[in-house]
Amino acid sequence: MSRDLAEVIFPEITKTVADYEEEYPRRIDVQGKPQCCVRFAPSPTGFLHIGAIYTALINRLFADQNNGVFILRIEDTDQKRSITGTVEEIVSAFDLFNIKIDEGAISSDSCMGEYGPYFQSKRKHIYEAFAKELLRRGDAYPCFCSSEDLEQLRQRQMNEKSPVIGYAEADAACRHLTSEEQLARIERGDEYIIRLRSRGSHDQTRVFTDGLRGELEMPVNNQDIVIIKADGLPTYHFAHSVDDHLMRTSHVIRADEWVSSLPIHVELFEIQGFELPEFIHLSPIMKQEGNSRRKLSKRLDPEARASYYIEVGYPLPAVKDYLMNIANSNFEDWRRDNQDVPVESFPFDIYKTSISGALFDFYKLENIAKKIVGNMTEDEIITAYSEWLQTDLDTDENRNSRESMRQWLAEHTKDFGRSISIWHEGRLDVAKWSDVYENYPYLYDRSFSERMPVFPEDFIEQKTDVIAILETYLESYDHSDDNSAWFGKVREIATKFNYAAKPKDYKKNPDLYKGSIVHVSSYVRFAVTHALNTPDLHSMIQFMGEEEMRQRVEATISALRDL
Ligand code: GLU
Repeated sequence: MSRDLAEVIFPEITKTVADYEEEYPRRIDVQGKPQCCVRFAPSPTGFLHIGAIYTALINRLFADQNNGVFILRIEDTDQKRSITGTVEEIVSAFDLFNIKIDEGAISSDSCMGEYGPYFQSKRKHIYEAFAKELLRRGDAYPCFCSSEDLEQLRQRQMNEKSPVIGYAEADAACRHLTSEEQLARIERGDEYIIRLRSRGSHDQTRVFTDGLRGELEMPVNNQDIVIIKADGLPTYHFAHSVDDHLMRTSHVIRADEWVSSLPIHVELFEIQGFELPEFIHLSPIMKQEGNSRRKLSKRLDPEARASYYIEVGYPLPAVKDYLMNIANSNFEDWRRDNQDVPVESFPFDIYKTSISGALFDFYKLENIAKKIVGNMTEDEIITAYSEWLQTDLDTDENRNSRESMRQWLAEHTKDFGRSISIWHEGRLDVAKWSDVYENYPYLYDRSFSERMPVFPEDFIEQKTDVIAILETYLESYDHSDDNSAWFGKVREIATKFNYAAKPKDYKKNPDLYKGSIVHVSSYVRFAVTHALNTPDLHSMIQFMGEEEMRQRVEATISALRDL
């Protein structure tokens, strides 16, 4: 009788499970052994989390180390939650982060590989064939319960303090319908979904194995979970079992939020007679907040979004290095000994990733990125920086500065090249491309002299001296002076105004002087840059030109006069 039911429900499904088993054969590697196959399977339900890049990168590295295949599968069966544009975002983030796939989605509607389609929404006929087989064998059944029925059941279980919770065991009302009743209701046009007939019971536990956590004793699944929803599409759990079986996934490496679903997944695999893959659940990236740790949150932390790193312009190899760094604690030592090779060469050990959660550390990320920028040649910086300026960004906090840099750079690539050496040599100040403008507005803001300086306290106290010193500086300035001639003049000015020409003289006899050469240089530096800690001042003045320098010093003098 159940055979008829399967036919009545899926009359058009003619291909069988056996046909699919043949169509998607087991994967064999070049040595004739079972091939490693992993997948990253995002649901396109919103922006991409940096944890997704972390998981994808780990999958990629794991596949590489095991001569395996890495698949990008799009789990878009939850039509209500799917958001257009997310697949493009994933594909383009993979591209930018240089995470290569062997099979799977390559755009919002196309894929490559022999085990596809790789969009779940295009695999409906396959899920139906597998659901049909379960119906045929009596391991699934149609359920006609309405949401009110389910609510009533919930209330009753609560009132009776029932040991069975949910749509399960004796409480799974439609499980007990006879075949005649099922067929009659379907023929009458009653709405239904399809549920698994679970073999578990609420008082059973068993051991499940996770690659990182080892053996976990958990209650078995006893829920008659939905496998095909009212819209005809499969639930995530069911699709996962069918897809990972047919795509011949050997290792399911995913976020640890799915550990609690293991009992459901294992039951689905076992009931369908599928070989179990190895499950490896990765802990999420955590953030330290005071004394406690919490998950990086999409809502609270901008750095939770993968696009954040693209937007502010971290060199993406630095972000990958950083992610590896939080995945395996020996990465840093390896990187020290292997500076010029891609992160993909790291002998990553998935079994050594921490299960207490990798801790997000901005300071570390910045340091890694600064070193990577520090090791780049000027040409590499020009290329990477120009690319960043050209990238279309959705939320662009740096829109104005990016736009003005883009225009300027288009015509002044050579000048930009000259300016790089000013901040690049011997300094590790730039971690991300937005830092270039933000750290050095005095090099790149074309209207810098219109900015109003915020004077340090001692400048205001020494106002008369500062003005006189700056005026003398301008009088004696000669743009053809080299660094030492230029500095010699600053020293002369210091002596003239009774500032010690050598800092140590001032230290020895502070009462004899108003200050030292350090103060005098800082007045000039501040007038030109509105900052006290900058790269070499003479080089910067040579870069910006005499006129620009004079304008700034004059503007500073008049701002001081107006105080
Ligand atoms: N679509 C699921 C997610 O986005 C994938 C879980 C899995 O990898 O099995 O979380």
